[in-house]
Amino acid sequence: MTPMNEQEKQLSYPLGDALPALGTTLEVAPGVRWVRMDLPFALNHINLWLLRDEIDGADGKVQGWTIVDCGITNDATRNAWEQVFANELGGLPVLRVICTHMHPDHLGLGHWLTEKWGVRLWISATDYNVARVASGIPGAGGVSSARFMQSHGVTDPEAIDKIKGRTNYYASMVPQVPAQYRRLMDGDELRIGGHAWTCHAGYGHAPEHISLYSPALGVLISGDMVLPRISTNVSVFDIEPEANPLPLYLASIARMKALPATTLVLPSHGRPFRGLRTRIDQLTQHHDERFADVLAACAQAPQSAADLLMVLFKRQLDLHQTTFAMGESIAHLHALWLGGKLVRRVDGSGVYRFSTA
Ligand SMILES: [Zn+2]
Repeated sequence: MTPMNEQEKQLSYPLGDALPALGTTLEVAPGVRWVRMDLPFALNHINLWLLRDEIDGADGKVQGWTIVDCGITNDATRNAWEQVFANELGGLPVLRVICTHMHPDHLGLGHWLTEKWGVRLWISATDYNVARVASGIPGAGGVSSARFMQSHGVTDPEAIDKIKGRTNYYASMVPQVPAQYRRLMDGDELRIGGHAWTCHAGYGHAPEHISLYSPALGVLISGDMVLPRISTNVSVFDIEPEANPLPLYLASIARMKALPATTLVLPSHGRPFRGLRTRIDQLTQHHDERFADVLAACAQAPQSAADLLMVLFKRQLDLHQTTFAMGESIAHLHALWLGGKLVRRVDGSGVYRFSTA
């Protein structure tokens, strides 16, 4: 077990160190099972959920399971799902697949799962459509992403070459998106296994992320919006160069503070925990501190997003981390720029620099 940091100690983990082994499940609430799949990234796992469900069939109720989030498209994840289906579902079928958002670790195997079981994908319209576009243009990314990074101060030719070469990124992990879907919207109430689950839309991390809350069970499937150990990635990407996702993200998690303090949070990464409001306060404070650091640096001299990487992350980053970190650095700058606290100018080399005057 990795040692906890100070902030994590303020949360409680009712399941202790228990983890479901690959291909098995662990019950975390009545009718709610935890599935954990490996990921080939620094973030090495994702949590998926199985909810006991029933739907109306021709001869009465049909018993089965709803899947929440799918895992990435690769053989290891497919094989682990096959084990779960063979050993963990009590011989019952999967009745539907819900996806919190379009990211590859969440939507990846959605095409395979929905085809295998002949069931519908439930997802927000925004994430569905962005996923269709992103999966359908395999050459996307590369050059325009590199140009965007250069405009924010990345100069290392090796890094720029690698970013240019990284096309096909989303489509390689989400090769296919189901041709049809059912739309989830903020406030929608789903009946799953006799319990009501309310959809909470959240912004800033994905186009329109849906978290699910069941008042009767006291359970929130938070997806990537609230994670216990790491802060959610909130980034600006080249497709929307003037985006301002951080205020959207912070407002979204602030709304979740209305949920009961005792809520059991089921996050997509890390362990189920209690302490939702504490965690939201920690995340808000984390971003407030980053805003203060950025403002202080920009008051000294005009800064590009690349200049601020050391200020924000305080360590050297590899290329994969750098692209994520750049997105986050730009997100902090944009929140301050579009909030009227910083001015943005283009310098002689075509790089955006932000200053307090
Ligand atoms: Zn995500």
